[in-house]
Amino acid sequence: MQDVELLVVGCGPAGGTAAREAARAGVETLVLEKDAVVGAKRVCAAGLRPGFCENFDLPRSIVHCDPPTIALHTLTGKRFEFPIGQGHTTTREELDGTIAAFARAEGAQIQTQALFRSYTRENGKTIVEFADTASGERRRVRAGHVFLALGSSARFDSGSPLGYDEWSAGLITCYQYRVYLERPAIPETYQTLELHYYVGASGHNVIAWMFPKRDHLSIGIGIPSKVSGKELRAELDAFLPTVERRLFPGVGYTIREEGNLLYGGAPRPTLSDGDVMLGGTAAGLVDATTGEGIHEAAMAGRLAAQAVAHAKRGRPSGAARAYERSLKSMFYGRLRHRHKLMTFLERAPMRFDLLFEQLARFPRFATMLQRDTNDFSFGEWLYLYTQAALFAVRVLRS
Ligand SMILES: Cc1cc2nc3c(=O)[nH]c(=O)nc-3n(C[C@H](O)[C@H](O)[C@H](O)COP(=O)(O)OP(=O)(O)OC[C@H]3O[C@@H](n4cnc5c(N)ncnc54)[C@H](O)[C@@H]3O)c2cc1C
Repeated sequence: MQDVELLVVGCGPAGGTAAREAARAGVETLVLEKDAVVGAKRVCAAGLRPGFCENFDLPRSIVHCDPPTIALHTLTGKRFEFPIGQGHTTTREELDGTIAAFARAEGAQIQTQALFRSYTRENGKTIVEFADTASGERRRVRAGHVFLALGSSARFDSGSPLGYDEWSAGLITCYQYRVYLERPAIPETYQTLELHYYVGASGHNVIAWMFPKRDHLSIGIGIPSKVSGKELRAELDAFLPTVERRLFPGVGYTIREEGNLLYGGAPRPTLSDGDVMLGGTAAGLVDATTGEGIHEAAMAGRLAAQAVAHAKRGRPSGAARAYERSLKSMFYGRLRHRHKLMTFLERAPMRFDLLFEQLARFPRFATMLQRDTNDFSFGEWLYLYTQAALFAVRVLRS
């Protein structure tokens, strides 16, 4: 049986960053990734928040566009624009592939076609079992620490410490077209990330997006329930012309279709079990209002790497619990609030109009809502509560 200090499962932004930063800190690291090519099968709009590449030391070459604005469209057809600084778009082949290449360069071993099955505890170590899908063999690895970053497929038995009965209810079914245009869309297309909130023909709440890329547009929809492929395609086919009419009228195009699940519920209550840590989407670290999760995933990977490197330097036990504490203090305030807000808005989608109008009228409110942690001053809390009360009054009046 192979022995490693850190075993990472999944080579998305969470697993790749953990592997890169742990290996850089001298931790012997093995990554198990089920796909044959890292990032090739990831379905994602791949919008990155401003500063992402600098923060995670990634080259500008992966960036396709730098849209400085996000436009929020509502059920009633209103559009609200907000400056976001210099956001980025990319593709997951490039993002995940680049992080993986850096991780390898730091000394991490990445084994593809390795499908994680389970973990158990034996003599103070964690034993991970996986299937080598190239050879068809089952294998076991003994690890000092394990970082599970397997995305929305992270289901665990309800008896397991990491089990979470609400997980399935939080899954969002997503479908996306990569639209390859014969000539560029209108210039405004490449300056804006678009998010649309509406009720679809099927009666479901829909969140749709248009994210510009160098050579295509990512146009997709997410529906927060289980929906058949046929229904999803029909919803996306109904949405596509609304974007086409404004941004690329009369331009020919071809389409590549892709579908995937995203978790959009509340963050998972428990993130560690012995020396096992859970990160990224597997931990439920996705902003329910926007679907953003790449930044959260990469940060989770960084914190996991720091916890393991710290343990290697002197405090061998308690790394996973320290990781869980720091991750929760960094993200849980905002993500739990975002999940509650989204549930409230989706109950009566006219509320999106009311909220976006208020954000447009009070830019300070909009800026404060974008903050990751709830480390507001007394004056800021007072301002936020005043805005919340104003919103509540407007909702009651509407
Ligand atoms: C349609 C869509 C659009 C999105 N758009 C955006 C966006 O614009 N911006 C943004 O910030 N976020 C976006 N997200 C969210 C974002 O994709 C996730 O938050 C992010 O990918 C989380 O990274 P991760 O590393 O935790 O998991 P993932 O990126 O899901 O990576 C998990 C990895 O684990 C591997 N894996 C899974 N199961 C196993 C197993 N059993 N054994 C071994 N390996 C396994 C997978 O192959 C994958 O490589 C979007 C999501 C979807 C579905």
